[in-house]
Amino acid sequence: MKKDLWINGRWVPTEQTLTIHSPFDGHLVGEVSVATSSQVSLAIDAAERTRPAMRALSAYERGEILDRVAELFDKRRHEAAAILCAEAAKPLNAALAEIDRTVQTYHFAADEARRLSGEMIPIDAAPGGKGRFGFTIQEPLGIIAAITPFNFPFNLVAHKIGPAFAGGNTVVLKPASQTPFSAFFTAELFHDAGLPAGALNVVTGSGAVVGDVLVEDERIAMVTFTGSPPVGKAIKAKAGLKKVTLELGSNSAVIIDQGVDIDTLIDRCVVGAFSFQGQVCISLQRIFVHSSLYADLCQKMVIATKKLNGGQPDKATTDYSALISEKDADRVQQWIKTAEDDGATVLCGGERTGNMVSPAILTNVAKGLKVSCQEVFGPVVVIWPFDELGDAIDQVNDSVYGLQAGIYTPLLDNALHAAKKLEVGGVMINDIPTFRVDQMPYGGVKESGTGREGLHYAVTEMTEMKLVVVKPST
Ligand code: NAP
Repeated sequence: MKKDLWINGRWVPTEQTLTIHSPFDGHLVGEVSVATSSQVSLAIDAAERTRPAMRALSAYERGEILDRVAELFDKRRHEAAAILCAEAAKPLNAALAEIDRTVQTYHFAADEARRLSGEMIPIDAAPGGKGRFGFTIQEPLGIIAAITPFNFPFNLVAHKIGPAFAGGNTVVLKPASQTPFSAFFTAELFHDAGLPAGALNVVTGSGAVVGDVLVEDERIAMVTFTGSPPVGKAIKAKAGLKKVTLELGSNSAVIIDQGVDIDTLIDRCVVGAFSFQGQVCISLQRIFVHSSLYADLCQKMVIATKKLNGGQPDKATTDYSALISEKDADRVQQWIKTAEDDGATVLCGGERTGNMVSPAILTNVAKGLKVSCQEVFGPVVVIWPFDELGDAIDQVNDSVYGLQAGIYTPLLDNALHAAKKLEVGGVMINDIPTFRVDQMPYGGVKESGTGREGLHYAVTEMTEMKLVVVKPST
C-alpha cells in the first residue's frame, strides 16, 4: 500500500516518503508521503478555496454526506478494522468496536448538522430595545486544522472532522505518523460520499513540520488537537489568536467504596485498565479501594488479568498485543522496574515479548513514582487501599490531570459528594473512568486539556455565533 497526500480531492506525490511497519511483528504495512511546508500550504490553499462551497451546503446536504460516510464505514467495517490491526496493532475486537463507534460518531455529526441553529433573543427586554427583536445564527469558523493521535485513528478523526463538516467548515487533517492509512481511508469514504473536493485535505509527515505550518498559518481559524500534554502546550503557545481545543492525557482513577460487591466490577476494571494495551486516554491507571475490600480485589483482579491472551492483533482471540513502538514498550517496562526497585509489589505482568508488555498490576507504590503520577499509556494499573472516602477523593485529585474519574458506591450521598469534589471533566458513578459514548460532552481540566468534544459541544466550538437584530421599518 502506498499513499500520497490527499489535497483538493486528488493524490499529490512527494519527494520524501515514510515506511510504516507493524508495531507487533515489524512487517511492512505501507508507505506514505512526507509533506514539505509548502505542500502543507497547498493543502491550506485548497481548504481556503473550498470554504464558499462548504458554506453553501444546506444542513440537509451536510447531514446526508455525514450519514453516507457512516453507512460506508458500516459496509466496510472489516476492511477498516484490518487497517487498525496492521498500523496500530489494535486487537481485532477492539478495532471492530472502534469502527462501530466511528459509525455512531458520524451519524451523531449528521444529526448535529440538521439541528444546528441559534436562538431568539428578547431584545425588547431592555428599555433601548423597544420594537426590535433578535436572533442568533451559528456560522462556520472557516478552516479547521485537526491533529490526531495514534490510539483511535478512525474515531478521534471522526470527532474532529464530523463536527467540522456539520458546521460547514473545511479541514486540513494531520494524522499521527504511525497511523496514516486510517486517515486516507476516511478521506476516500468522504470523497465517495460526495464531500466537495478540497473540503478535507490529509497531510502526513512529521508532527513538528506539518504541525508548525498548520498552527502558525493565519488562514487557519481553529486548531483541534488530541494528543500528549507537551505537544498540546507547545501548540497553544504558538497558536496566537486562533481558537484551540486540546484533548490531552490522564492517569484516570476509580474509587471503590465500602459495601460494593466487587464481583460485579472486576471484569470492568480489567477492561478499563488493559484495553488496547492501556493506550487509551481514560485508561484506568489508579484504583483506590476501601481497605475492607483491598485483599479480595487484588486477588480477583490478578485472576481475571491472567486470563487475558496476548498475541497477533488480527486474531479474534487476542486481548492485548504490542505497544505502539519499541520505545514505548521499553519505557513502560522501565517504569514498572523503577517502581519495583522502589519497593512496589508486581502482583502480575510486566513481562516483555517483542513490543508486548503483559498486563501488570502493582501495589505498595509510592505516590511520587511515574506509574502513579504520570500517564503510563500502557498496560499498568496500581491499587491502593483507603479508609476514608475524603482521603480517596484527595488522592484522585492529587494529579496534574483531570479527564474522567469513576466511583463505585452503594451510597447516593457518597456518589454525589464525590461527583462534586472530584476535579475532572466527567464523573462516572458505578462505573470506571473509561466509559465514553460519542455524543456525551468529553474533555478535561488541568493538564488534561481545554474545550469539549462530543458532537453537539464540538460543533458549538467549531462555529461562531452571529447576532442579528431586526428593527421593523413599520
Ligand atoms: P502525540 O505524540 O502528542 O501526537 C499527537 C499528534 O500530534 C500526532 O499527529 C503527532 O504527529 C502530532 N505532533 C507531534 N509533534 C507536534 C508538534 N510539534 N506540533 C504539532 N503536532 C505535533 O500523542 P500520541 O502519542 O499520538 O497519543 C497519545 C496521547 O494522546 C496520550 O497522552 C493520550 O492520553 C492522548 N489522547 C487524549 C485523548 C483525549 O480525548 N483526551 C484521546 C486519545 C489520546 P507525529 O505522529 O508525526 O509525531
